[in-house]
Amino acid sequence: MYGKGLFATVTRVTSTAALSRLFCRRMASESVKRFDFLVVGGGSGGLAGARRAAELGASTAVIESHKLGGTCVNVGCVPKKVMWNTSTHAEYLHDHEDYGFQGAKAHFSWQIIKRKRDAYVNRLNHIYKSNLDKGKIEFIHGYARFTDDTEPTVEVNGKKYTATHILVATGGHPSTVSENDIPGANLGITSDGFFELESCPKRSVIVGAGYIAVEMAGILSTLGSKTSIIIRQGGVLRNFDALISSNCTKELQNSGIELLKNTQVKSVEKNDKGLSVKLVTKDPDDKDAEEKLESVHEVDCLLWAIGREPNTAGLNLSQIGVNLDERGHILVDEYQNTSRPGIYAVGDVCGKALLTPVAIAAGRKLAHRLFEGKADSKIDYNCIPTVVFSHPPIGTVGKTEDEAVKTYGKDNVKVYTTSFTPMYYAITSRRSQCVMKLVCAGENEKVVGLHMQGFGCDEMLQGFAVAVNMGATKADFDRTIAIHPTSSEELVTLR
Ligand SMILES: Cc1cc2nc3c(=O)[nH]c(=O)nc-3n(C[C@H](O)[C@H](O)[C@H](O)COP(=O)(O)OP(=O)(O)OC[C@H]3O[C@@H](n4cnc5c(N)ncnc54)[C@H](O)[C@@H]3O)c2cc1C
Repeated sequence: MYGKGLFATVTRVTSTAALSRLFCRRMASESVKRFDFLVVGGGSGGLAGARRAAELGASTAVIESHKLGGTCVNVGCVPKKVMWNTSTHAEYLHDHEDYGFQGAKAHFSWQIIKRKRDAYVNRLNHIYKSNLDKGKIEFIHGYARFTDDTEPTVEVNGKKYTATHILVATGGHPSTVSENDIPGANLGITSDGFFELESCPKRSVIVGAGYIAVEMAGILSTLGSKTSIIIRQGGVLRNFDALISSNCTKELQNSGIELLKNTQVKSVEKNDKGLSVKLVTKDPDDKDAEEKLESVHEVDCLLWAIGREPNTAGLNLSQIGVNLDERGHILVDEYQNTSRPGIYAVGDVCGKALLTPVAIAAGRKLAHRLFEGKADSKIDYNCIPTVVFSHPPIGTVGKTEDEAVKTYGKDNVKVYTTSFTPMYYAITSRRSQCVMKLVCAGENEKVVGLHMQGFGCDEMLQGFAVAVNMGATKADFDRTIAIHPTSSEELVTLR
């Protein structure tokens, strides 16, 4: 068990000079507050690590420059899921008449859902603060920066703090485009700005092909904004299994979203009707193809969803011996150790599996290692399940088919796929397919990857992820009696 935080003390004095030196040293040492565990960043990873460490008896402090809860609570998973839930209502409205609910016309108010969403996020901010208070964790509000002191120390609002163990969990922020590269780029917003929108944009242009672009485009389009996605290549979600990438690209188009492939933004201008986004399109496979120029006009929401960058720039990490990769992520080993002993990092700032549950699990495992003596406490970065809240949602865990072929060789990989119309759509005019793929490896056909997109796949994945993590084989899936009538039964009846 760990003692309470304490201030350093001083010993004997002999001469005036020594007295003065000692006084300065005493002032310096006294102004450094010491803990067992100091966490920089009050987001998913930082809070989880801090609370677990405090439970294990460590005197703990959390430093947060903005709002407690970090990206997930304030500008990520939570408000995004509220908006996705909102947009699924808009989808169901289309089906009401088909299900016998006649004349169900509803007016949607963005302002109402924004107000309720903000209030919910606010409630969560307070809950996080009260959890810190209950756990006797000191909350320090301000921006932390490592000092040049010999012992790892951070400074916040002119005060210094140190600890036996310091965790950096500072997350990341959306990438932006420089005005030099794309004139007018600053006229656009990022996912952070999406959550500040006071009304539903009439005309949206989303730039990007990753999951945030897909999710935001889906939400905006479903809620009534005419939406275009600008992608540099031929499809979205290109690091997902090929079935998911191609199906999601198709679903976006089927839902009425304009997908501009092989296209990039050249410039953005503002006029009295909104933004004019100038685009350039060129087929990379056709060397002789001419560049095609076109513009999208009257845009009231240009959203850059082009990736995320780690929050490391102002931390002074390199100077204190914490190594970063070329993009500024903190380099850690499998135990979340950085290159400087006593300093650790978890979550998005490490650039690997940027997901809330990953940050939380890494923070907790680290606390158990540092304060409970569990030397082997670490997370397994393989086989992390993830959902994309697209329309319909995507669920995926384990290796893509391509990754499996690379790992096990083509002859050792067997793939099972299916595509069907979920029963929900049997009586609706609105239709959407469900696609599923099992990637199996080796003679016993161990399921090493499971990928699906369709109605309900978001809630379907977690249980299957347990099976995949336990090493289930195709025979285990086959042995499991189906639940009828559901979409998930298809996964245990694949042939
Ligand atoms: C639009 C969007 C949707 C998402 N949806 C999902 C989803 O559905 N599911 C999912 O699992 N993940 C989702 N994510 C990802 C998820 O939000 C992150 O993976 C998660 O928040 C990472 O946690 P973290 O602790 O590493 O960092 P963060 O939660 O970002 O926390 C870092 C904290 O550190 C603070 N900080 C930074 N620098 C300093 C400093 N120098 N001093 C003091 N404080 C500092 C920041 O203010 C921030 O509060 C989404 C992200 C976005 C942007």
